[in-house]
Amino acid sequence: AKAEGGNRYALADPDSDARAISRHHLTHHLPAALKGAEFFIEYQPLVRMEDGSLEGAEALVRWSHPRHGVLGPDRFIPLAEHTGLIVPLGRWVLQEAVRQACKWQVRGIGGARPLKVNVNLSPRQLHHPELVDDTIAVLEEAGLPPSSLCLEVTETAMIRADENELRPLRELAELGVGIALDDFGTGYSNLANLRRLPASTLKLDRSFTQGLQRDPADPVDLKIVEGIVSLAHTLQLSVTVEGVETGAQAQQLRDLGCDSAQGWFYARPGPPERLPQAV
Ligand code: C2E
Ligand code: CA
Ligand code: CA
Ligand code: CA
Repeated sequence: AKAEGGNRYALADPDSDARAISRHHLTHHLPAALKGAEFFIEYQPLVRMEDGSLEGAEALVRWSHPRHGVLGPDRFIPLAEHTGLIVPLGRWVLQEAVRQACKWQVRGIGGARPLKVNVNLSPRQLHHPELVDDTIAVLEEAGLPPSSLCLEVTETAMIRADENELRPLRELAELGVGIALDDFGTGYSNLANLRRLPASTLKLDRSFTQGLQRDPADPVDLKIVEGIVSLAHTLQLSVTVEGVETGAQAQQLRDLGCDSAQGWFYARPGPPERLPQAV
């Protein structure tokens, strides 16, 4: 794994001018930004822990604002969610990411095992009546097998969903689309409840990875992660860890039985051209 520069823009810089742009201003400009193609996607590799091979990539959207520079999703996704623009924006991200995955597959990137692409879904998209049909249409148009797509839904959104709201995800899962429980461990799931969710992967939140950063790692933190991994495997869920920043963390999480990983230790999010050389 190679380190790739620092943050190229102020995704999380509290002092940046970007902080001062009002929510109102951003909200007002979102529709024109979507029409004017000001959004773009970066991809962050997902790596198999057993052999370090490239499993796929998560699509992460950015807004290239003509006056304020590149804005990270934390700045505008909540606004897009609030106004409902997340539905067309999310559909655009899905279409772009699926087309990109197809290009990688055609070029044989990922070797014998076809590369996957992960796309984040907001709660609002989950409730949209066209979710299943739209997703199928996007996959068919691009010619990507459903099993090469994984939709990430936060644990919080999943546990709030009732059976009606879970049905679309269940239908997609039956077609072979992967469903990941994102940011797992931050939503206080009733663990027994996990059984009723149509998930295939559990994505352990970065807060757990951070807990293992101390040297030696907190033995209680280790036991907690071990317990989650074992429960997930019992339920036939694979486990992906996010936010892996050091080799020591990677080793530890591998020893704890995690299946795949994502984080700066492997690669930062980057343009699609960079993925083939990422790992
Ligand atoms: P997420 O789904 O939890 O995505 C992972 C976030 O962690 C990304 O932030 C990524 O850049 C960051 N990250 C990855 N590796 C590391 C690491 O080793 N250390 C640290 N400190 N951070 C790491 P990003 O790109 O700013 O995205 C933030 C959130 O925005 C995402 O969190 C996701 O919830 C949301 N998001 C991004 N793209 C979309 C989208 O297309 N649709 C929706 N609905 N949400 C999106
Ligand atoms: Ca995610
Ligand atoms: Ca996550
Ligand atoms: Ca997270």
